[in-house]
Amino acid sequence: MNRNVIAENPEVAVIGGGPVGLMLGCLLRSNGVDALVVDRPAPDSRHSKATLIWPRSLEVLEGAGVSEAVVAAGHRIDAVTFSTAAMRLRSIDLGELPDTRYRFGVSVRQSVVEDILRHRFVELGGTLVSAECTSVADAGDHADITLTTSVGIREISPAWVVGADGVRSTVRAAIGAEYRGYDVPARFVLADTALSGRAPRNEVRYYFGHDGSLAVGPIGDDLYRIAWSVQETPAVPVGIDDLTELIRVRSDLDVAVEHVHHSADFRAQVRHATTFRAGRLILAGDSAHRMTPASGQGMNTGFGDAAALGWRLSAVLAGRLAESSLDDYAVERAAAARQIEQRTSAQSSRVDDWTVSESDPGPIPIMSTAELAQFDVGQRVDVNHRGLGVGLGIPVAPAAPTVVCWPGSEWRAAQWARSLAELDREVSGGARIVDASRLGNSRPPGLQGDQPGCIVITPDGLVTDHCDVGDVPRVLAAAGWR
Ligand SMILES: Cc1cc2nc3c(=O)[nH]c(=O)nc-3n(C[C@H](O)[C@H](O)[C@H](O)COP(=O)(O)OP(=O)(O)OC[C@H]3O[C@@H](n4cnc5c(N)ncnc54)[C@H](O)[C@@H]3O)c2cc1C
Repeated sequence: MNRNVIAENPEVAVIGGGPVGLMLGCLLRSNGVDALVVDRPAPDSRHSKATLIWPRSLEVLEGAGVSEAVVAAGHRIDAVTFSTAAMRLRSIDLGELPDTRYRFGVSVRQSVVEDILRHRFVELGGTLVSAECTSVADAGDHADITLTTSVGIREISPAWVVGADGVRSTVRAAIGAEYRGYDVPARFVLADTALSGRAPRNEVRYYFGHDGSLAVGPIGDDLYRIAWSVQETPAVPVGIDDLTELIRVRSDLDVAVEHVHHSADFRAQVRHATTFRAGRLILAGDSAHRMTPASGQGMNTGFGDAAALGWRLSAVLAGRLAESSLDDYAVERAAAARQIEQRTSAQSSRVDDWTVSESDPGPIPIMSTAELAQFDVGQRVDVNHRGLGVGLGIPVAPAAPTVVCWPGSEWRAAQWARSLAELDREVSGGARIVDASRLGNSRPPGLQGDQPGCIVITPDGLVTDHCDVGDVPRVLAAAGWR
């Protein structure tokens, strides 16, 4: 860890060096922001919380320059299937996703993802501080924080503080936000196991039934993660014969458990911070929202937070975006987290008390493919086509809007070139202007007809507006760009 140099007044101090804090640190450093990540020294744990990373997160990881490393370190997931022991209810084929390079998910240990991000953050020139953040205060035009390090106490004053410090967040307490929610009634046990027999190689299976739920998914190295609901506090570690029998009863899999590497029980909780921002203090990841592990969405949602916050904070610090954009972040990501929370908690809480039959699959809240992949999550503006522009194949600017302009079918080259040059002058370098007439087949669906128009894409790939070329400066100003 690079512990030596702690700046007095960094632009951003990210509290928490879990996956979300490290990802945000990478995105900020990629935009040249003077960012440090503070992480409490913790003992190594054999237990990996998250394993599943979905396509939208792989795109976000690409923005931080680490998607290739994560894909290479992980195990490919092509499909997710929801079933009872007797019948298949729905299979989600990630290969069907349109407009993305990543038509698959990845199963990889959270600690491996953190190692990759930590290495990247340092490579980008970020400062990692091994310390406990013991106090945080908003001082109006900056924040004051106290760090307890192995060599003493340091007080520093960053311009902004982001709390990516997990469920027991110190920053959330400083904001004064409540962490509202409830405990899911069922308890769960998970075990990372070696299986013999016919286990699915590139698929995650969720089974629902009267006895409870079961999830089985490969995690690489020929291991499988098994998770299941229980009514009472279970015996952990888990016996291999009992687990083989449980899989037989709850699924259609013909497998035997050969070895249990690690097992743990946990109670799933659903929590939501009442605000994600107050003044100079902002929340991201589990500090802002906690969801059940069903369908593996918690860390993925945190990556979405990092993507939505990284460019805004960079642009605010550069004086190119109004601070109110950080409230947009709070609103946008609170809505995204709620949407995912509702789906995942319904999936977890219903397991023991509903019935399902062939004619009526019951109230199993199965996500759509785009939702599971984290694409159709928390969109703000309906522009008549997909809200996310990331997969459109257009290189978006990392800290400024990208405006893709289409002249319509009846255009004259000289006149169109003049219109674009005029637009470029008006936005005076504050946006990347892309001429859609040069994009060929990769032209976005909203820019294909007779009518001219533009779409505005945020640096994290969200299409936020659809307007006329002449309206672009007004639309950008309304969004806070200057
Ligand atoms: C069993 C299980 C399975 C899961 N599976 C998945 C999955 O497959 N996919 C998925 O997307 N999600 C999954 N999740 C959820 C996922 O693990 C979390 O959403 C993720 O860890 C959140 O990341 P974070 O960076 O926000 O917080 P954390 O991972 O909690 O990291 C917070 C960091 O902040 C540090 N910290 C805290 N307080 C301080 C302080 N005061 N000073 C300094 N440092 C501090 C901590 O030491 C820690 O390093 C799973 C969770 C569980 C329990």
